[in-house]
Amino acid sequence: SVDYGKGFSHDSIKVFVRVRPLTQGTGLTTDGDQGLCLKVTSPNTIRLLAKPEPRTFTYDYVADMDTTQDSVFSSVAKNIVAFLTLTGKICYCTSTVGQTGSGKTFTMLGPSELDNFTDELRGVIPRSFEYLFFLINREIERSPHSKSFLCKCSFIEIYNEQIYDLLDTASASLFLRENIKKGVFVEGAVEKFVTSAAEAYQVLSMGWRNRRVASTSMNRESSRSHAVFTMTLESKESINEVVNIRMSQLNLVDLAGSERQKDTHTEGSRLKEASSINRSLMCLGQVIMALVDVSNGKNRHICYRDSKLTFLLRDSLGGNAKTFIIANVHPGSKCFGETLSTLQFAQRAK
Ligand code: ADP
Ligand code: MG
Repeated sequence: SVDYGKGFSHDSIKVFVRVRPLTQGTGLTTDGDQGLCLKVTSPNTIRLLAKPEPRTFTYDYVADMDTTQDSVFSSVAKNIVAFLTLTGKICYCTSTVGQTGSGKTFTMLGPSELDNFTDELRGVIPRSFEYLFFLINREIERSPHSKSFLCKCSFIEIYNEQIYDLLDTASASLFLRENIKKGVFVEGAVEKFVTSAAEAYQVLSMGWRNRRVASTSMNRESSRSHAVFTMTLESKESINEVVNIRMSQLNLVDLAGSERQKDTHTEGSRLKEASSINRSLMCLGQVIMALVDVSNGKNRHICYRDSKLTFLLRDSLGGNAKTFIIANVHPGSKCFGETLSTLQFAQRAK
């Protein structure tokens, strides 16, 4: 049976921190020559070895270096997918924050050279497809005459506050619109209908390859863009000739690197890049803080429109929506500064 109460008993925003291994992967070549700047002290606390004294941070869940992709999915996204399939009407969002190289893409998609979604190292997004279709098929099996589902996906990238369709590289940049029926949406983005996890993988890998191509041919560096995979689910249930339709939406987000631009020679397009990334991430931080205040009973205006990312995610941040933020951190002592700032960002989100 699906446990869909536990993840979100009260709060609509949950924060999960994942510590990546020190040396694995192709990140920094000097990964091995450094000590650790943090220690996971319990399933929800991290001790950062700061000076003059260590600081402890508390989250909903902390995954240490050896945590598998499967267990990350089970603790983070499984509940969300179950909510999506079985309750409907609401939008859900999971996203990762952290510096470049901290494991955001690894967590959401898998190892970057991998298009094989049956690999054990596949990430949260492909596993969400599998679980979603497992639940859909089970629902249909239980009530073959009354239930049906329609599932479609889109995949876009936000780069320099411009929106590009990863499923149609020939299209020009797209715009956000809103209406009562759909809420906020990307006008003209390709939507692919999918009827199985395998079909959803195909859409994902097509977009993922396009993202890689765009990063070389269009000079859009993927570590500086936000990728948003959106799955919209329409569930129909007929009871005594009355058809009940529910819409729900899942946004799976691979955010740009959160590191500050330190290079003083940064200018022109790189500077514009740096400032628009920071704008989106800064706005996300502000929206989340405002939402936390609102949930504590304060009356606050939430500025979703200040960036493309927060406006696009408006319906899945706040209200009845559920958001799961995964903060990825690198445990190496050389990453202390960025790790501290990610841990602080994530703590504010609590
Ligand atoms: P980001 O998207 O945050 O820039 P990546 O996900 O691309 O970072 O990770 C950088 C490298 O480290 C990749 O080669 C990735 O496969 C590897 N890596 C990241 N996290 C892990 C992990 N938990 N286990 C094994 N390898 C990892
Ligand atoms: Mg990445």
